[in-house]
Amino acid sequence: MTNYYNENTVIYLDGQFVKATDAKIDLYSQSMHYGYAVFEGIRSYKTVSGETKIFKEQEHFARLQHSADSLNLPYVYDAATLIAATYEVLKRNNLQDAYIRPLVYAPANMSFVKNSASHIAIQVWEMAPFLGEKLLRVMTSSFQRPNPKGFVITAKASGHYVNSILASQEAKANGFDEALLTDMNGFVAEGPGANMFYEKNGKLFTPSEGNILPGITRATVFEICGELGIEVIEKQITVAEVKEADAAFFCGTAAEVIGWESYDNSVFKKEWSKTLSRIIQKAYASRVIEKRISIPEKELKEVEA
Ligand code: PMP
Repeated sequence: MTNYYNENTVIYLDGQFVKATDAKIDLYSQSMHYGYAVFEGIRSYKTVSGETKIFKEQEHFARLQHSADSLNLPYVYDAATLIAATYEVLKRNNLQDAYIRPLVYAPANMSFVKNSASHIAIQVWEMAPFLGEKLLRVMTSSFQRPNPKGFVITAKASGHYVNSILASQEAKANGFDEALLTDMNGFVAEGPGANMFYEKNGKLFTPSEGNILPGITRATVFEICGELGIEVIEKQITVAEVKEADAAFFCGTAAEVIGWESYDNSVFKKEWSKTLSRIIQKAYASRVIEKRISIPEKELKEVEA
């Protein structure tokens, strides 16, 4: 398991830089008891010029605010301050390729009334860049994503992740790498911590918004496809059509773009190295480190064929 911190680790906590081992949270917080907290998952990379760059930092901190507002958690922070604090935490921990975890949590309060204050912590830990060619064996989860009428599913709320943990653990217990969850109507939704796309006949397909966390990586895949002239269709997707796909991948800040080997034990027809998905994976890996690459038209045409 990842070594998240040691006695030298520094975190940001309510405006202060403190040692992780000195930081205290309130055991009477609603966040601990009810999962009533919101967070972000962000990554920083050492770019090709050697600098540390937080990828899509504005988007992540905007979503943190949206998540807090959606749950009525007081949010008194501004993005510029939090971004500067995050760079400082990275520097103090001597990290460039890192995972960044801001968490907004509630004070001591066991009732269900609105809080007048909240806390914020920003933790960072080392994360090796890009997983590369590893392909995943994915299974349909027996767990479905939460009903959007029961939760604000566009919020990255801590409590939602009990659902993710159950699905991921079930997949691993059954010998798979990861789960794919359907929505409450049985259509494909997303992974426990990532969005999904599939590829068929030179086009990409992904579940429409409504039952998913609209991922920042998903939006980046749209950007990449726009630049490469690849059509992306958002729609309701069935489990059966994913099995008929040429390829499929998960995308998320932590997962980046990671291809699937098989889905419910059916192996995809196209070799990963010959798919558009692989080209998108390469484009994403370059983008996060600010490396300019040009993908020859010829390469695109070849894989579409
Ligand atoms: N769906 C879920 C349930 C997630 O937890 C994540 C990770 N934040 C994603 C999708 C992907 O979102 P992003 O690309 O913004 O990391």
